[in-house]
Amino acid sequence: MPPAIHSNRDAQTFDVVVIGGGHNGLVCAAYLARAGLTVKVLERRAIVGGAAVTEEFHPGFRNSVAAYTVSLLNPKVIADLELHRHGLKIVERPAMNFLPLPDGGYLLTGDGRTKAEIAKFSPKDAECYDRYSARLTVVADTLRELALRAPPNVVKGFGWRGLRELVRAASLGNRLRGLDLEAQRLLLDLFTKSAAEFLSEWFESEPLKALFGFDSIVGNYASPFDPGTAYVLLHHAFGEVNGKKGAWGHAIGGMGAITQSMAKAAAEHGVEIETGAEVAEVLIERDRVVGVALKDGRIVRGRTLAANVNLKLLYTRLLPEQSLPPPFLERMRNFKCGSGSFRMNLALSELPSFTALPGKAAGAHHGAGIIIGPSLAYMDKAYRDALAHGWSREPVVEMVIPSVLDDSLAPPGAHVASLFCQHVAPELPNGRSWDDAKEEVADLMIATVDRYAPGFASSVVGRQALSPLDLEREFGLVGGDIFHGALSLNQLFSARPMLGHADYRGPIGGLYHCGSGAHPGGGVTGAPGHNAARAILADLKPFSSSSL
Ligand SMILES: Cc1cc2nc3c(=O)[nH]c(=O)nc-3n(C[C@H](O)[C@H](O)[C@H](O)COP(=O)(O)OP(=O)(O)OC[C@H]3O[C@@H](n4cnc5c(N)ncnc54)[C@H](O)[C@@H]3O)c2cc1C
Repeated sequence: MPPAIHSNRDAQTFDVVVIGGGHNGLVCAAYLARAGLTVKVLERRAIVGGAAVTEEFHPGFRNSVAAYTVSLLNPKVIADLELHRHGLKIVERPAMNFLPLPDGGYLLTGDGRTKAEIAKFSPKDAECYDRYSARLTVVADTLRELALRAPPNVVKGFGWRGLRELVRAASLGNRLRGLDLEAQRLLLDLFTKSAAEFLSEWFESEPLKALFGFDSIVGNYASPFDPGTAYVLLHHAFGEVNGKKGAWGHAIGGMGAITQSMAKAAAEHGVEIETGAEVAEVLIERDRVVGVALKDGRIVRGRTLAANVNLKLLYTRLLPEQSLPPPFLERMRNFKCGSGSFRMNLALSELPSFTALPGKAAGAHHGAGIIIGPSLAYMDKAYRDALAHGWSREPVVEMVIPSVLDDSLAPPGAHVASLFCQHVAPELPNGRSWDDAKEEVADLMIATVDRYAPGFASSVVGRQALSPLDLEREFGLVGGDIFHGALSLNQLFSARPMLGHADYRGPIGGLYHCGSGAHPGGGVTGAPGHNAARAILADLKPFSSSSL
C-alpha cells in the first residue's frame, strides 16, 4: 500500500537528499556538505553503515556483520574525510592467507614468507611469483587510479555532454597507452579470461592457483573456469592497507568503525543523518525529482537525490513505473544481482586447532584469511553443485578471526569468527525458501571448517547466519548481492549500471547514483560516493572552486 503522505510545505528543501546511509552514501554526503551544500541522509536501519557495520550478534560478542575485511577503501577518501582523526584505525593481518589442505599440507602467505611457502609445492612457481606480483601491481595501479574517475559515458549526439565524454575517453586512452604493451596484454587477459586459464598460464601448483583463484569467486556466483572471472580476481587486488599495496587488514572495532568515522566526518561538515527513515517512494514533478516520501508518510524535499541503495531496488521498487523510459526499466529489471553469498558470525570459546598446523595458541595463520577450498577443481564442483542443489555440499569458505587482532570484539580468552561462504544459489530451486534451508546450510559450513580443524564445531557457543534472503531483507541487497550487481563485463565501467548512465546520473533530472551499482562497483571503497559527489557538484556548483 502506498504511504499516506503528510505534506509539510514549510519543511526545508535540501540541496541533496541521500537515500541510504551505507558507506558510499556517507562519503558522498560528506563531500557535498564540505563543498557547502545542505545534505540530508535517510537510512532505513537503526544504524548507518549499510553492509559495513559492527553489531553484537551474541551476548558479549560483536563482529563486522557483513563486510569483514578492509583493503579497497580508497586512501584519498580516508585522507579527505580525515577518517583517522575521526577514530579509524586499520591494522594489517599478520599473514595474508592460510590454505589448509586435506592431506595435512598448507600454504601460508604474506609477511615475507610467500616465496618460500610456494617453493614447498613448486620451485618453478616460486620463481614466477615476483614477476607475477610485479605485473599484477602495474595493472592494479591503473585500476586503482581509474576507480576515482567517472568512466567515459555513452551519449547521443555532439552536444557539450558528448564533448565532455570525448575528453574523458581520450584521457582514459592516454592512461592505458601509458602502460607498456605487455601490461596492456595482461589487462586484456584479465578482462576476458577465466581465472583458471589466467592462473594456469603463470603457475602449475594447484594449492597456489586455489589461493589466488579464491579472489575470483568471492561474491561471484561462477566457476573459476568461467570467462570473465579473472577480472574479479583483479578487483580484489587493487586495494591497500596503510600504504601497502594488495594487503588486507582489519579495522579496529570492526567495519562499523569505518562507517562511524565517516558519519562523524559527515556530521562535522553539517550533514543531517536520520536513521529509522525508510524511503518508500521517490517524488517526481515535471520530469525532475523533488524529494522522497518516507514509509511513515513524511516527505523530505530535495533539489537533487543521490541513491546509495541498490539500483535495481531503486528503479523497480521506489519509482513509479511510468516515470521511467521503458527500455531503461527493462534493462534495470534484468540487471544481474545475486553473488551467491552466505555469511556467518560465530562466537568461539577458543581458537581452532588445524590438522595442518596444530595448536590453539594464536599463530600468524589465525590472523590470516583462512581459505577452505583446496583447488580450482573443488571450487568448480562447488559451483556446479550449487546450481543443481541450491548450495554446495562441499562449500568454499573463508574464515577470518578478527578477535586475534582486536580484543574489543569478544570476552577475554574467547573469539569471534567471520565465515564468508561462497556458492549458494541466490534463490533455491523448486521454490524452496532460504528460511527453511538456512540452519541446515549453517551446520554444513561449520562442519566444513571442522573437517580441517577437528573440535571447531564444539567451540561454537553462538552463531548468526545470513542467507541471501536475509542479506536482502536486512541490508536491501537485492538477491543478496554483496556488490549491488555482478562485476561482469556487461556491468562494469561504462556499462555500470548500463551504457548511457555511467556518469552517476540517472534517467530523471536531479537523480544520481552514489552506491556500489555505479563505477567502480562493490566493496568498501568509498569510490562511487566520491565520484557521484563530483558529478553532483559539477551540476549544482559548476563555477565553484570546491573540486574533488
Ligand atoms: C556478506 C558480505 C561480505 C562482504 N565482505 C566484504 C569485505 O570483506 N570487504 C569489502 O571491501 N567489501 C565486502 N563486501 C561488499 C561491501 O560491503 C559492499 O559492496 C558495500 O558495503 C556497499 O556499500 P554501499 O554504500 O554502496 O551500499 P550499502 O552498504 O548496501 O548501503 C545501502 C544502504 O541503503 C539502505 N537502504 C536500503 N533501502 C533503503 C530505503 N528504502 N530507504 C532508506 N535506506 C535504505 C540500507 O539499509 C543500507 O544502509 C561484503 C558485502 C557483504 C554483504
